[in-house]
Amino acid sequence: MRKQIAAANWKMNLSQSEADTLLNELLQTDHSLAAHQEAIFAVPAIYIHQATSTLAGKQNVFVAAQNCHQKSNGAYTGEISAPMFASVGVKHIVLGHSERREYFAESDALLAEKVNAVLAIDSTPIFCCGEPLEIREAGTQNSFVEAQLKNSLFHLSAEQIIKVVIAYEPIWAIGTGKTASSEQAQEIHAYIRSVFATKYGQSIADQISILYGGSVKAANAKELFSQPDVDGGLVGGASLIASEFAAIINALK
Ligand code: PEP
Repeated sequence: MRKQIAAANWKMNLSQSEADTLLNELLQTDHSLAAHQEAIFAVPAIYIHQATSTLAGKQNVFVAAQNCHQKSNGAYTGEISAPMFASVGVKHIVLGHSERREYFAESDALLAEKVNAVLAIDSTPIFCCGEPLEIREAGTQNSFVEAQLKNSLFHLSAEQIIKVVIAYEPIWAIGTGKTASSEQAQEIHAYIRSVFATKYGQSIADQISILYGGSVKAANAKELFSQPDVDGGLVGGASLIASEFAAIINALK
């Protein structure tokens, strides 16, 4: 069975003590992870050390970075490279979140370089894609997302692509409270899988986890995750509430 993943994206939220409280509250909730399930916490980089020690020894639980620089080292003041994250035990890095594409002008070509940087340190890119509202309204979301995937990922070998986790996040559903319906999510997740099947073959495509992101919460997670091509979620707002995120973990199939 493909990996089923509940990934928290804290974005630029929480003080150190709030982060500590949230993780400790979460540890006290009733949640469990089967062998094929993972919980991943993409915390602000400054809290990676703290989160890693708080979650140490927890099976199938990982601390992730929210971004990295494409180069491994050099004169890039303020940036953090993939090998630096690897050196503190990070195994997953979120790439291409729509906020980074929009506010930091991250292009598909730049993201292809970042994907290479993450794979080079044997970590997992959690690669975000997804369309803005006007594209959804025009009904051209499939070709929009397909272009994002082709431009940033299609240079990878089959061996590399199965190490990538995809997060489909329609921009109109991020932080808006508007969730894609489970039918809308299933439809585009199946399309994304078919894009990989055409390029790499069905058995490779079947191994790629495709997460849904966009106002996932305890109340809708089970219905979304029950769809055959939805392999969990990338969760912003609801990941900042321990009981909500615990329920989202428990909604994994
Ligand atoms: C996200 O940050 O990736 C996200 C999906 O946010 P939210 O769950 O708040 O919509």
